[in-house]
Amino acid sequence: MSELPQRVRIREVGPRDGFQNEPEVIPTEEKVRLIGLLVASGLRRIEVTSFVRPDVIPQLADADQVLEAIARPEGVAYSVLIPNEKGLERALADRRRFDEINVFLSASEAHNRRNVNRSIAESLEGLGRTVARAREEGLRCEGVISVSFGCPYEGEVPPARVFEIAERLAEAGCDEISFGDTTGMANPRQVGEFFAAANQRLTGVELTAHFHNTRGQGLANVLAALEQGIASFESAFGELGGSPLTPGATGNISTEDLVSMLEEMGVATGVDLALLIDASRAVQELLGRPLGAHVLRAGPVDWQR
Ligand code: ZN
Repeated sequence: MSELPQRVRIREVGPRDGFQNEPEVIPTEEKVRLIGLLVASGLRRIEVTSFVRPDVIPQLADADQVLEAIARPEGVAYSVLIPNEKGLERALADRRRFDEINVFLSASEAHNRRNVNRSIAESLEGLGRTVARAREEGLRCEGVISVSFGCPYEGEVPPARVFEIAERLAEAGCDEISFGDTTGMANPRQVGEFFAAANQRLTGVELTAHFHNTRGQGLANVLAALEQGIASFESAFGELGGSPLTPGATGNISTEDLVSMLEEMGVATGVDLALLIDASRAVQELLGRPLGAHVLRAGPVDWQR
């Protein structure tokens, strides 16, 4: 087996990717409390909210209040999702409250149309302007490419097309490209081949893997990416999140599963699993979700029954 990275960076996306895709609107003070628990667990990258239109995504309508209320500890990078230039202008009112933005588009025309009602070319043009403006403000930029490993409408997505989009995002000024398996269609062999090729073609940008566990292959895909030297992952605490376009699509890989697997394999994450599980329990209880396996095992419930 190839050498694995000694340590990885994890971006917790639950407060955005997760909260956006759960039907309930979580009260602002609860979001602030949960983000505090995530910081306390040792997570150093957290996607805290999004400046999408509040009438479209009411779950994140309190983006500015969340930013203003969360603590700003040293060494923790907060990122916000920015859909367009208008969203960026709204976010810039709180410029000192976050460090990074992420902009997104899909690797397939059909998914991009349904998600943002634009062609890929139109999205790239708009994102280019947004990223340029964000960089003027000294913000680090991440470009997220949804359905990088398969599209629920178009099926197979050629990696060459994904890499071309990634190159355009890098040229526009993105420091990091995240490849999203938005509906959990990737398999480990495909992921290994994808990142082997990505490493050849995309240099000078951080490559991040964002897997969903829709078909139970999320952690296997993490291992396949690790074996190609990928050392940046995105996940959501408490098994939150799905995809609003895909009914029944389960969420992101859970951060507690990711941390647990990596630490047991000797790959450092900087996260205290017990404290992370406290945060996961808190959100699952708040939303009335069945407690996940890690939460159950750590808690008073008898795991054997
Ligand atoms: Zn996701």
